[in-house]
Amino acid sequence: MSSSAVSRTYIGSMNLTFLGTASAQPSTTRNHSALALRLGKDVWLFDCGEATQHQLQKSPLKMGRIEKIFITHTHGDHIFGLIPLMASLLNGAGGTAEGSDDPRLNVNTETPALEIYGPLGTRAYVRNGLAYTHTLLGASYVVHELRFPSDPQIGDVTSLTPQLAECLNGCNILQVDGIWKDIFKDEVISVSAAPIHHSVPCVGYVVTEAPVPGKIDPSKYIPELKRTRTAMTVMRQLQQGGSVALEDGTVLYGPPRKRGRKVVILGDTFDPSPAASLAEDADMLVHEATNAHLPGIDTSTKEADTYESVEARAKSRGHSTPQMAGAFAKKIRAKRLILNHFSARYPGDDSEESKQIMTAIGNLAASEFGQNVVCAKDLTSVDIGFSEKQ
Ligand SMILES: [Zn+2]
Ligand SMILES: [Zn+2]
Repeated sequence: MSSSAVSRTYIGSMNLTFLGTASAQPSTTRNHSALALRLGKDVWLFDCGEATQHQLQKSPLKMGRIEKIFITHTHGDHIFGLIPLMASLLNGAGGTAEGSDDPRLNVNTETPALEIYGPLGTRAYVRNGLAYTHTLLGASYVVHELRFPSDPQIGDVTSLTPQLAECLNGCNILQVDGIWKDIFKDEVISVSAAPIHHSVPCVGYVVTEAPVPGKIDPSKYIPELKRTRTAMTVMRQLQQGGSVALEDGTVLYGPPRKRGRKVVILGDTFDPSPAASLAEDADMLVHEATNAHLPGIDTSTKEADTYESVEARAKSRGHSTPQMAGAFAKKIRAKRLILNHFSARYPGDDSEESKQIMTAIGNLAASEFGQNVVCAKDLTSVDIGFSEKQ
Protein backbone atom coordinates (compact mmCIF):
# COMPACT_ATOMS: atom_id res chain seq x y z
CA MET A 1 0.00 0.00 0.00
CA SER A 2 1.43 3.38 -0.85
CA SER A 3 0.41 6.98 -0.51
CA SER A 4 0.40 9.16 -3.56
CA ALA A 5 0.51 12.91 -3.19
CA VAL A 6 -2.12 15.15 -4.75
CA SER A 7 -0.43 16.92 -7.64
CA ARG A 8 -0.57 20.67 -7.24
CA THR A 9 0.75 23.17 -9.73
CA TYR A 10 -0.79 26.31 -8.31
CA ILE A 11 -2.21 27.37 -4.96
CA GLY A 12 -4.21 30.52 -5.42
CA SER A 13 -5.84 31.75 -2.24
CA MET A 14 -4.43 30.74 1.12
CA ASN A 15 -6.42 31.04 4.29
CA LEU A 16 -6.17 30.12 7.96
CA THR A 17 -9.20 29.13 10.02
CA PHE A 18 -8.87 28.75 13.77
CA LEU A 19 -11.05 25.80 14.73
CA GLY A 20 -10.06 25.78 18.38
CA THR A 21 -8.26 28.40 20.46
CA ALA A 22 -8.44 27.08 24.06
CA SER A 23 -5.55 25.89 26.18
CA ALA A 24 -5.99 23.04 28.68
CA GLN A 25 -9.71 23.55 29.41
CA PRO A 26 -12.19 23.93 26.54
CA SER A 27 -15.23 26.12 27.13
CA THR A 28 -18.46 26.98 25.39
CA THR A 29 -16.60 29.74 23.54
CA ARG A 30 -13.26 28.08 22.86
CA ASN A 31 -12.67 24.55 21.59
CA HIS A 32 -9.44 22.63 21.99
CA SER A 33 -6.62 23.34 19.53
CA ALA A 34 -6.99 22.87 15.81
CA LEU A 35 -6.22 25.10 12.88
CA ALA A 36 -6.97 24.64 9.20
CA LEU A 37 -4.71 25.98 6.49
CA ARG A 38 -6.57 26.06 3.19
CA LEU A 39 -4.35 25.96 0.11
CA GLY A 40 -6.69 26.58 -2.80
CA LYS A 41 -9.14 23.75 -2.31
CA ASP A 42 -6.92 21.50 -0.21
CA VAL A 43 -7.02 21.61 3.57
CA TRP A 44 -4.18 20.88 5.93
CA LEU A 45 -4.98 20.60 9.63
CA PHE A 46 -2.57 21.61 12.36
CA ASP A 47 -3.48 19.81 15.59
CA CYS A 48 -6.75 18.07 16.15
CA GLY A 49 -8.12 18.59 19.64
CA GLU A 50 -11.33 17.08 20.94
CA ALA A 51 -14.41 17.86 18.79
CA THR A 52 -12.43 19.25 15.87
CA GLN A 53 -14.88 17.59 13.50
CA HIS A 54 -17.76 19.54 15.10
CA GLN A 55 -15.81 22.75 14.53
CA LEU A 56 -15.18 21.78 10.90
CA GLN A 57 -18.91 21.32 10.47
CA LYS A 58 -19.45 24.87 11.75
CA SER A 59 -16.87 26.23 9.29
CA PRO A 60 -17.09 26.57 5.51
CA LEU A 61 -14.26 24.03 5.16
CA LYS A 62 -14.98 20.64 3.65
CA MET A 63 -13.80 17.76 5.80
CA GLY A 64 -13.34 15.62 2.69
CA ARG A 65 -10.65 18.03 1.45
CA ILE A 66 -8.33 17.30 4.38
CA GLU A 67 -5.15 15.98 2.82
CA LYS A 68 -2.64 16.20 5.62
CA ILE A 69 -2.67 16.60 9.38
CA PHE A 70 0.29 18.00 11.30
CA ILE A 71 0.42 17.41 15.05
CA THR A 72 2.59 19.79 17.08
CA HIS A 73 2.76 17.58 20.17
CA THR A 74 0.88 14.70 21.70
CA HIS A 75 -0.72 16.53 24.64
CA GLY A 76 -4.37 15.54 24.65
CA ASP A 77 -5.71 19.03 23.95
CA HIS A 78 -3.93 18.82 20.57
CA ILE A 79 -4.59 15.21 19.55
CA PHE A 80 -7.70 13.81 21.29
CA GLY A 81 -9.85 14.63 18.25
CA LEU A 82 -7.65 12.84 15.74
CA ILE A 83 -9.09 9.33 15.89
CA PRO A 84 -12.77 10.35 15.67
CA LEU A 85 -11.91 12.70 12.82
CA MET A 86 -10.10 9.88 11.00
CA ALA A 87 -13.08 7.59 11.53
CA SER A 88 -15.38 10.13 9.86
CA LEU A 89 -12.97 11.15 7.13
CA LEU A 90 -11.85 7.64 6.21
CA ASN A 91 -15.26 6.01 6.29
CA GLY A 92 -14.69 4.18 9.53
CA ALA A 93 -17.02 1.70 11.14
CA GLY A 94 -17.12 -0.63 14.06
CA GLY A 95 -17.54 -3.81 12.03
CA THR A 96 -20.53 -6.11 11.63
CA ALA A 97 -21.74 -8.86 13.92
CA GLU A 98 -20.74 -11.34 11.24
CA GLY A 99 -17.36 -9.70 10.76
CA SER A 100 -16.31 -11.30 7.54
CA ASP A 101 -18.80 -9.46 5.31
CA ASP A 102 -17.76 -5.99 6.38
CA PRO A 103 -16.78 -4.13 3.19
CA ARG A 104 -14.37 -2.09 5.21
CA LEU A 105 -12.10 -5.04 5.57
CA ASN A 106 -11.13 -4.11 1.99
CA VAL A 107 -9.39 -0.77 2.37
CA ASN A 108 -9.83 1.54 -0.61
CA THR A 109 -6.32 2.11 -1.92
CA GLU A 110 -7.43 4.16 -4.93
CA THR A 111 -7.59 7.40 -2.97
CA PRO A 112 -4.32 8.88 -1.67
CA ALA A 113 -3.60 8.03 1.94
CA LEU A 114 -4.30 10.66 4.59
CA GLU A 115 -0.85 11.82 5.67
CA ILE A 116 -0.24 12.54 9.33
CA TYR A 117 2.94 14.10 10.69
CA GLY A 118 3.79 14.40 14.36
CA PRO A 119 6.38 13.68 17.02
CA LEU A 120 7.15 10.25 18.46
CA GLY A 121 3.98 8.67 19.82
CA THR A 122 1.66 9.90 17.08
CA ARG A 123 1.85 6.60 15.17
CA ALA A 124 1.42 4.46 18.28
CA TYR A 125 -1.45 6.64 19.54
CA VAL A 126 -3.38 6.32 16.27
CA ARG A 127 -2.65 2.61 15.83
CA ASN A 128 -3.63 1.72 19.37
CA GLY A 129 -6.64 4.03 19.40
CA LEU A 130 -8.04 2.51 16.23
CA ALA A 131 -7.28 -1.06 17.31
CA TYR A 132 -8.75 -0.87 20.80
CA THR A 133 -11.90 0.93 19.64
CA HIS A 134 -12.32 -1.76 16.95
CA THR A 135 -12.42 0.99 14.35
CA LEU A 136 -12.10 -0.28 10.80
CA LEU A 137 -11.20 2.36 8.23
CA GLY A 138 -12.39 2.28 4.64
CA ALA A 139 -9.41 4.30 3.35
CA SER A 140 -5.75 4.38 4.21
CA TYR A 141 -3.53 6.64 6.24
CA VAL A 142 0.16 6.93 6.97
CA VAL A 143 2.00 8.45 9.94
CA HIS A 144 5.40 10.10 9.53
CA GLU A 145 7.14 10.86 12.81
CA LEU A 146 9.57 13.67 13.50
CA ARG A 147 12.11 12.06 15.76
CA PHE A 148 14.10 14.13 18.25
CA PRO A 149 17.76 13.14 18.77
CA SER A 150 16.84 11.63 22.17
CA ASP A 151 14.10 9.44 20.61
CA PRO A 152 14.61 5.95 19.22
CA GLN A 153 15.64 6.68 15.63
CA ILE A 154 14.05 3.58 14.13
CA GLY A 155 10.98 1.41 14.68
CA ASP A 156 7.36 2.14 15.51
CA VAL A 157 7.86 2.14 19.31
CA THR A 158 4.70 0.13 19.93
CA SER A 159 4.31 -3.61 20.12
CA LEU A 160 1.03 -3.46 18.22
CA THR A 161 1.46 -4.30 14.53
CA PRO A 162 -0.02 -2.05 11.83
CA GLN A 163 -3.71 -2.53 11.15
CA LEU A 164 -5.21 -2.91 7.68
CA ALA A 165 -5.62 0.77 6.84
CA GLU A 166 -2.15 1.88 7.89
CA CYS A 167 0.35 2.30 5.05
CA LEU A 168 3.69 0.75 5.85
CA ASN A 169 5.72 3.55 4.30
CA GLY A 170 5.49 5.88 7.30
CA CYS A 171 8.91 7.53 7.73
CA ASN A 172 10.85 8.27 10.85
CA ILE A 173 12.25 11.67 9.93
CA LEU A 174 15.49 12.52 11.73
CA GLN A 175 16.74 15.98 12.59
CA VAL A 176 19.58 17.41 10.55
CA ASP A 177 21.32 20.49 12.00
CA GLY A 178 18.61 20.79 14.64
CA ILE A 179 15.62 20.95 12.28
CA TRP A 180 13.48 18.76 10.02
CA LYS A 181 13.88 20.31 6.58
CA ASP A 182 11.33 19.69 3.83
CA ILE A 183 9.33 16.96 5.52
CA PHE A 184 6.98 17.52 2.61
CA LYS A 185 7.72 19.24 -0.67
CA ASP A 186 6.01 19.44 -4.03
CA GLU A 187 6.34 21.89 -6.92
CA VAL A 188 4.55 24.72 -5.19
CA ILE A 189 4.79 24.24 -1.43
CA SER A 190 7.06 22.79 1.22
CA VAL A 191 6.87 22.16 4.94
CA SER A 192 9.78 22.19 7.36
CA ALA A 193 9.68 21.84 11.12
CA ALA A 194 11.79 22.71 14.13
CA PRO A 195 11.69 21.77 17.79
CA ILE A 196 10.25 24.39 20.14
CA HIS A 197 10.54 24.34 23.92
CA HIS A 198 7.47 23.15 25.82
CA SER A 199 6.92 20.74 28.73
CA VAL A 200 7.01 17.78 26.30
CA PRO A 201 8.58 17.33 22.83
CA CYS A 202 6.86 19.88 20.61
CA VAL A 203 7.23 21.06 17.03
CA GLY A 204 6.66 24.28 15.10
CA TYR A 205 5.77 24.00 11.41
CA VAL A 206 6.86 26.36 8.65
CA VAL A 207 4.91 26.23 5.40
CA THR A 208 6.65 27.94 2.50
CA GLU A 209 5.22 28.55 -0.93
CA ALA A 210 7.69 28.29 -3.81
CA PRO A 211 8.33 31.52 -5.74
CA VAL A 212 5.28 32.42 -7.80
CA PRO A 213 5.07 33.97 -11.28
CA GLY A 214 5.35 37.76 -11.29
CA LYS A 215 2.75 39.99 -12.91
CA ILE A 216 3.20 40.09 -16.67
CA ASP A 217 2.67 43.19 -18.79
CA PRO A 218 1.54 41.79 -22.18
CA SER A 219 2.21 45.10 -23.95
CA LYS A 220 5.92 44.48 -23.40
CA TYR A 221 5.85 41.22 -25.30
CA ILE A 222 2.99 41.18 -27.84
CA PRO A 223 4.53 43.63 -30.38
CA GLU A 224 7.73 41.53 -30.42
CA LEU A 225 5.77 38.31 -30.88
CA LYS A 226 3.69 39.84 -33.69
CA ARG A 227 6.77 41.25 -35.39
CA THR A 228 8.46 37.87 -35.50
CA ARG A 229 5.18 35.95 -36.11
CA THR A 230 5.73 33.91 -32.99
CA ALA A 231 2.77 31.92 -31.63
CA MET A 232 1.02 33.73 -28.78
CA THR A 233 1.08 30.47 -26.82
CA VAL A 234 4.65 31.33 -25.70
CA MET A 235 3.04 33.92 -23.41
CA ARG A 236 2.37 31.05 -21.03
CA GLN A 237 6.09 30.30 -20.83
CA LEU A 238 6.87 33.97 -20.25
CA GLN A 239 4.16 34.21 -17.58
CA GLN A 240 5.92 31.41 -15.71
CA GLY A 241 9.11 33.50 -15.69
CA GLY A 242 10.75 31.56 -18.53
CA SER A 243 12.56 32.93 -21.58
CA VAL A 244 11.68 32.62 -25.26
CA ALA A 245 14.16 32.96 -28.15
CA LEU A 246 12.60 34.64 -31.19
CA GLU A 247 13.52 33.83 -34.81
CA ASP A 248 15.65 36.93 -35.20
CA GLY A 249 17.76 36.01 -32.21
CA THR A 250 16.02 38.35 -29.72
CA VAL A 251 15.43 36.69 -26.35
CA LEU A 252 12.38 37.69 -24.30
CA TYR A 253 12.45 37.16 -20.55
CA GLY A 254 9.32 36.74 -18.46
CA PRO A 255 8.90 38.82 -15.27
CA PRO A 256 11.01 37.56 -12.37
CA ARG A 257 9.21 35.27 -9.96
CA LYS A 258 8.28 36.77 -6.61
CA ARG A 259 8.70 35.32 -3.16
CA GLY A 260 5.93 32.91 -2.13
CA ARG A 261 4.02 33.15 1.13
CA LYS A 262 5.34 31.78 4.42
CA VAL A 263 3.14 30.69 7.32
CA VAL A 264 4.53 29.67 10.70
CA ILE A 265 2.32 27.63 13.02
CA LEU A 266 3.84 26.99 16.41
CA GLY A 267 2.64 24.52 18.97
CA ASP A 268 2.66 25.20 22.71
CA THR A 269 5.89 26.88 23.73
CA PHE A 270 7.73 29.02 26.24
CA ASP A 271 10.64 29.51 23.86
CA PRO A 272 10.43 28.80 20.13
CA SER A 273 13.95 30.09 19.39
CA PRO A 274 15.17 26.83 17.76
CA ALA A 275 12.60 27.60 15.01
CA ALA A 276 13.68 31.23 14.59
CA SER A 277 15.84 30.96 11.50
CA LEU A 278 13.34 28.74 9.65
CA ALA A 279 10.54 31.13 10.61
CA GLU A 280 12.28 34.35 9.51
CA ASP A 281 10.21 36.86 7.52
CA ALA A 282 7.00 34.88 7.93
CA ASP A 283 3.98 36.50 6.33
CA MET A 284 1.91 35.06 9.17
CA LEU A 285 3.01 33.80 12.59
CA VAL A 286 0.62 31.89 14.83
CA HIS A 287 1.95 31.92 18.40
CA GLU A 288 0.33 30.83 21.63
CA ALA A 289 -0.35 33.28 24.47
CA THR A 290 -1.78 31.18 27.26
CA ASN A 291 -1.38 33.54 30.22
CA ALA A 292 -1.45 37.31 30.62
CA HIS A 293 -1.16 39.81 33.44
CA LEU A 294 -4.11 42.16 33.15
CA PRO A 295 -4.54 44.13 36.39
CA GLY A 296 -7.61 46.36 36.31
CA ILE A 297 -8.97 44.50 33.27
CA ASP A 298 -9.12 40.86 34.33
CA THR A 299 -11.08 40.94 37.59
CA SER A 300 -9.63 37.60 38.69
CA THR A 301 -6.07 38.99 38.72
CA LYS A 302 -4.44 38.14 42.04
CA GLU A 303 -3.17 41.15 43.94
CA ALA A 304 0.22 39.59 44.61
CA ASP A 305 0.79 38.95 40.90
CA THR A 306 3.15 41.00 38.80
CA TYR A 307 3.98 40.63 35.12
CA GLU A 308 7.15 38.82 36.16
CA SER A 309 5.30 36.31 38.35
CA VAL A 310 2.76 35.59 35.59
CA GLU A 311 5.55 35.14 33.04
CA ALA A 312 7.46 32.84 35.39
CA ARG A 313 4.34 30.73 35.98
CA ALA A 314 3.53 30.57 32.25
CA LYS A 315 7.10 29.48 31.45
CA SER A 316 7.13 26.87 34.21
CA ARG A 317 4.12 25.24 32.53
CA GLY A 318 5.70 25.47 29.09
CA HIS A 319 3.66 28.46 27.89
CA SER A 320 3.99 32.09 26.81
CA THR A 321 2.59 35.51 27.63
CA PRO A 322 1.45 37.90 24.87
CA GLN A 323 4.66 39.90 25.32
CA MET A 324 6.79 36.79 24.73
CA ALA A 325 4.83 36.08 21.53
CA GLY A 326 5.23 39.69 20.39
CA ALA A 327 8.97 39.62 21.05
CA PHE A 328 9.40 36.44 18.98
CA ALA A 329 7.35 37.91 16.12
CA LYS A 330 9.63 40.94 16.14
CA LYS A 331 12.76 38.81 16.30
CA ILE A 332 11.81 36.87 13.16
CA ARG A 333 10.48 40.02 11.41
CA ALA A 334 7.03 38.46 10.97
CA LYS A 335 4.62 40.55 8.93
CA ARG A 336 1.57 39.55 10.97
CA LEU A 337 1.03 37.90 14.34
CA ILE A 338 -2.06 36.02 15.48
CA LEU A 339 -2.34 34.69 19.02
CA ASN A 340 -4.15 31.52 20.06
CA HIS A 341 -4.26 28.91 22.86
CA PHE A 342 -5.81 31.09 25.57
CA SER A 343 -6.42 30.24 29.19
CA ALA A 344 -10.03 29.42 30.12
CA ARG A 345 -9.99 32.80 31.93
CA TYR A 346 -10.25 34.53 28.55
CA PRO A 347 -13.52 33.54 26.82
CA GLY A 348 -13.82 34.03 23.08
CA ASP A 349 -17.33 35.43 22.97
CA ASP A 350 -18.62 38.84 21.92
CA SER A 351 -19.42 40.20 25.39
CA GLU A 352 -17.97 43.63 26.16
CA GLU A 353 -15.86 42.19 28.97
CA SER A 354 -14.36 39.47 26.77
CA LYS A 355 -13.67 41.90 23.96
CA GLN A 356 -11.95 44.28 26.37
CA ILE A 357 -9.74 41.49 27.73
CA MET A 358 -8.80 40.21 24.28
CA THR A 359 -8.03 43.73 23.06
CA ALA A 360 -5.76 44.19 26.08
CA ILE A 361 -3.99 40.88 25.36
CA GLY A 362 -3.47 41.93 21.73
CA ASN A 363 -2.10 45.28 22.88
CA LEU A 364 0.40 43.60 25.24
CA ALA A 365 1.74 41.55 22.31
CA ALA A 366 1.70 44.61 20.05
CA SER A 367 3.80 46.56 22.59
CA GLU A 368 6.69 44.16 21.85
CA PHE A 369 5.91 43.43 18.20
CA GLY A 370 5.39 47.06 17.20
CA GLN A 371 2.32 46.28 15.07
CA ASN A 372 -1.30 45.33 15.54
CA VAL A 373 -1.89 41.82 16.80
CA VAL A 374 -5.01 39.72 16.33
CA CYS A 375 -6.30 37.41 19.06
CA ALA A 376 -8.02 34.48 17.39
CA LYS A 377 -11.50 33.39 18.33
CA ASP A 378 -12.91 30.03 17.31
CA LEU A 379 -13.74 30.16 13.61
CA THR A 380 -11.69 33.32 13.05
CA SER A 381 -10.59 33.14 9.44
CA VAL A 382 -7.79 35.16 7.84
CA ASP A 383 -6.52 35.30 4.29
CA ILE A 384 -2.79 35.12 3.73
CA GLY A 385 -1.74 37.58 1.08
CA PHE A 386 1.63 38.40 -0.42
CA SER A 387 3.60 40.79 1.73
CA GLU A 388 5.89 41.74 -1.13
CA LYS A 389 4.62 44.00 -3.85
CA GLN A 390 5.37 42.93 -7.41
ZN1 LIG B 1 -2.07 22.93 24.59
ZN1 LIG C 1 0.90 21.27 25.42
